[in-house]
Amino acid sequence: MKDRALNTEILSVGTELLLGHVTNTDARDVSEMLSKIGINVRYHTVVGDNPQRLRECVEIAKRRADVIITTGGLGPTCDDLTKQILAEAFGLPLVEDRAEREGLYDYIKYSKSFTPNNYAQALIPEGATVFHNNCGTAPGCAFQKDGRTVVMLPGPPKECRAMFAESAIPYLKALSGGEIVSHSLRIFGIGESAVDQMFRDEMDKMSNPSMAPYAKECDCLLQVTAKADTAAEAEAMIRPVMERAAARLGEYVYGVDVECIEEAVFALMEHNGLRFAAAESCTGGELAKRFTDIPGASAHFCGGVVTYTNEMKSRLLGIAPALIAEKGAVSYEVAYEMAARVRELSGADLGVGVTGLAGPDGDGVHEVGTVFVSLAAPEGVWVRALRLGAHRTRSFIRRMAGNHVYDMMRRYMSGLNVLEPGAEKTI
Ligand code: ATP
Repeated sequence: MKDRALNTEILSVGTELLLGHVTNTDARDVSEMLSKIGINVRYHTVVGDNPQRLRECVEIAKRRADVIITTGGLGPTCDDLTKQILAEAFGLPLVEDRAEREGLYDYIKYSKSFTPNNYAQALIPEGATVFHNNCGTAPGCAFQKDGRTVVMLPGPPKECRAMFAESAIPYLKALSGGEIVSHSLRIFGIGESAVDQMFRDEMDKMSNPSMAPYAKECDCLLQVTAKADTAAEAEAMIRPVMERAAARLGEYVYGVDVECIEEAVFALMEHNGLRFAAAESCTGGELAKRFTDIPGASAHFCGGVVTYTNEMKSRLLGIAPALIAEKGAVSYEVAYEMAARVRELSGADLGVGVTGLAGPDGDGVHEVGTVFVSLAAPEGVWVRALRLGAHRTRSFIRRMAGNHVYDMMRRYMSGLNVLEPGAEKTI
């Protein structure tokens, strides 16, 4: 088994990326997937559809990376240069792949816009492993030459992600000799830097398994990766590290290998056989949308109301206009009522509410980012008062407010203190 980490450079090709017309999500997606299998990404490079500049970038990448992963420029048009330039840089001729050519021929039958130059897509550097494109026409490929590994992926994000997961990951895993396994603890309530500080000494001493914190948009994760001859050995190396880290992080851990906090809440609702309903103001239905994105949500979500105006808060939820007038729509009391009323009206086990200022304008009383989130259960009602930051974007404030609601729910269902960790932000 090789032990040296493979340094990787992602080289994204496309003038549209340089012009700012398209965000380089391919590099982000590939990096994220590589980090899950413990492969280090050292550089992201973006270059336009220009043969000379692409050649220069490839020469630089050859000097500093073991693995060069390109995205984009595999299509049939004359500005799709990636294969030609990479093949040339490694002294490989382009040869036609018969299976891909036949596949393209079949495609003609279904496509009116197919032109002869489309066959250029079937040209592959000699000896390369061909990655069939299950979501489009341009195949990708990979080869090893001069101590370097080159992987070429198509530009359209759906094609890039699918090909990377289906073909490139198995190829790279085989190359690294052995199995790389990675698991992550998802954390809400303390930030990436606090997690980093907590584990810094330990992380500095570790190499295999290794541990690293990563920031996500509104929470963070701690990832543990191990490399061994077999997946079972790697799992055995990871387990005690994960257990120790989970014990240290305690109630801030909301899940293992989950994608988002609502997924963890869904699992807890499933386990406890509970249902909830939501009354939303500043999140505008996002809370409900996030939960109903999960298949099977109907078993645990009764429904939600978006009561944006004061009038709707009174008409639909029955909150006294006098209370709203006295305390303001963005208040502890209104958040309390929203959760309690929606629970009563829906007959759900739990009711949640969220009212706040997502910005950019304030209400003259509170600063932007002031949000009250609430949870009503048979035992009582809890309200978290949050200051999420006046400098934050509207979308951040909404998402973070939603995360706090879900955090209160998962804390309630796990028998933890519901108000932590927002309590320190009490207004
Ligand atoms: P195909 O021929 O299947 O379109 P291709 O490899 O030739 O594949 P490009 O022509 O480079 O792909 O790009 C096609 C589209 O994919 C671009 O217009 C852009 O919208 C998107 N795209 C390309 N590169 C990226 C990237 N790095 N991140 C996100 N989107 C990208």
